[in-house]
Amino acid sequence: MSNVFELSYPSVEIAGSTDRYPVRRIYCVGRNYAEHAREMGHDPDRDPPFFFMKPADAVVPNGSNIKYPLATENFHFEMELVVAIGKTGTQINAQQALGHIWGYGVGIDLTRRDLQVEAKNMGRPWDAGKGFDESAPISAVHSAEEIGHPDGGRIWLDVNNTTKQDSDISKLIWSVPEIIEHLSGLFTLQPGDLIYTGTPAGVGAIKAGDRIKGGVDGVDTIAVQIT
Ligand code: MN
Repeated sequence: MSNVFELSYPSVEIAGSTDRYPVRRIYCVGRNYAEHAREMGHDPDRDPPFFFMKPADAVVPNGSNIKYPLATENFHFEMELVVAIGKTGTQINAQQALGHIWGYGVGIDLTRRDLQVEAKNMGRPWDAGKGFDESAPISAVHSAEEIGHPDGGRIWLDVNNTTKQDSDISKLIWSVPEIIEHLSGLFTLQPGDLIYTGTPAGVGAIKAGDRIKGGVDGVDTIAVQIT
């Protein structure tokens, strides 16, 4: 008996493999670099980490064309290191966190900034600003066996070959193990969970025709074009 629905499970390329990393959930960290917190009008020293989510099928592979999204006039890029969870855990302490990580990739937390700002101002959820279609471009994921656990390295993003973001992942306010400690105190983490770890300063608007390329040294790069 055939199913009337064509079911497909979101997944991400695994570097050097024909296997794919299945995406269960996409968690994102807000304001995790001091200079970006300041550019968004916040005091980076006072805010504990907080999280929002994108739907799993928001992932878009490296090299894609991405349609300029609906209902925005202020569409922003946010270059981020992405953690791929490989082992189930809850209330994981930071000292044990690396053992729950399968590997890493790089991603862009695409944001409808006007809708996010409106939601903030009205005390409403961020879903429309953050969790829309094609809002989570991501590179292939690389196993920690292959690349280790990066805790330093340049994070950068260019729009049309002009550098807009240029920082270092050592400047994360909350490190990857600390993120996992906090996040796993809220949710049971499972294989297939991606964590976008936050973006450095320099975010800005993009438009149809723009070519975006970014990366984290020692992890990977990603390039997409807006159409
Ligand atoms: Mn972000």
